[in-house]
Amino acid sequence: MKVVTEAHRLKPLFRFITRLKRNSPRGLQSIAIKAGTNAWNGIDCLSCANCCKTMTPTYTNADIKRIASYLQISRDEMKKRWLKKERGTVKWLNKTTPCQFLDLKTNMCNVYEVRPTDCAGFPHLTKKRIMEYIDMHKQNLDQCPATFKMIAGMNEMLEKRISSL
Ligand code: SF4
Ligand code: SF4
Repeated sequence: MKVVTEAHRLKPLFRFITRLKRNSPRGLQSIAIKAGTNAWNGIDCLSCANCCKTMTPTYTNADIKRIASYLQISRDEMKKRWLKKERGTVKWLNKTTPCQFLDLKTNMCNVYEVRPTDCAGFPHLTKKRIMEYIDMHKQNLDQCPATFKMIAGMNEMLEKRISSL
């Protein structure tokens, strides 16, 4: 589900990402950190929850242990009820979306205190160096308003820099 409302801005931003992949300008990492931090201004995840509704987190074994213990069920029971193994890895994914732990009335997470590390960090705006994660940001551009704001912010900062030359 696309949740970014400024649809007319998506194509230019996809093109911007393509240009970055061909040629990253100097200082890009500090621009990405600044844009990633600013991106959260005005974002209300509780009025969105698109990630919980349409994507699956990746669960590590530590996540499963923590959540199962919180729910007072066994790890096997948790896997059997809700998870499937990601092919070729040791990680686990939700079988279905929306996430079984999402309260669809309030958009709140029923296991918030012990949620998967992947959820706690999503959309990982400044988790890695920008060009190491750019394909993931591209994938989330029309899905996550915070990612959209970060990429749009980077684009604006770079355009300003060019026009001031
Ligand atoms: S992280 Fe992104 S997709 Fe998830 S709720 Fe927040 S703004 Fe929406
Ligand atoms: S565990 Fe919680 S935060 Fe993570 S996807 Fe499910 S509802 Fe969302």
